[in-house]
Amino acid sequence: MQLLPALWRQNCVLCADDAGNTALCPACWSDLSRMPDTTCPICALPVNESGTLCGSCLKHPPAYERTLAAYAFTFPLDRLVHAFKYHHQFSLLDTLTAPLIEALQHHPRPDAILPMPLHPWRLRERGYNQSLLLAQHLAHQLKLPLLIHACQRTRATAEQARLSRQQRLDNLRGAFTCDANVQDLHIAIVDDVMTSGSSAQHLAQALKHAGASTVECWVVARALHMR
Ligand SMILES: [Zn+2]
Ligand SMILES: [Zn+2]
Repeated sequence: MQLLPALWRQNCVLCADDAGNTALCPACWSDLSRMPDTTCPICALPVNESGTLCGSCLKHPPAYERTLAAYAFTFPLDRLVHAFKYHHQFSLLDTLTAPLIEALQHHPRPDAILPMPLHPWRLRERGYNQSLLLAQHLAHQLKLPLLIHACQRTRATAEQARLSRQQRLDNLRGAFTCDANVQDLHIAIVDDVMTSGSSAQHLAQALKHAGASTVECWVVARALHMR
């Protein structure tokens, strides 16, 4: 009976050292880029003083009210997200969501969780929606309902990562529809990475249009430097 625990041991996804029964060894885990202490509560970009809004959210408040990010989107966290998103490294689920689950212990709970929809073409290319896997894990851990088919991505937009900020905004115009009843609901959108926030903005607009009262974003990684 000694065999089974040995079989379950994993090599660290980043450095290939023994990681016990988790995806990362303790050294790589402590290297992951945490979020700064003071961030804008709406968009999670760094600000100088705790609890203050950034200039951009003051001037043009987005359609979502709050953003929680587990990590800053820098090396080596970007490699983990890539491995999870494109290379089926599902053993990373706990690592990628742990800071969110911790933060959500002291946070008002939404009524439901909604994964960032993936267009059916992209789903066929990739085989799975990484945001759905994250949302399922969070819904299970936090005992919250999951809305899987509430919203659709109606256009197969160009990959956001390759576009400039203005192109990202144009790219997503009218990209989402929501036909479920979300009237007066507080919804948390789950996504792997928030870069400019334009996907979250357009999905939040569609949710608000469908009657949602509050929308917040839960992301694994927040890009802290905008292009
Ligand atoms: Zn390691
Ligand atoms: Zn902000």
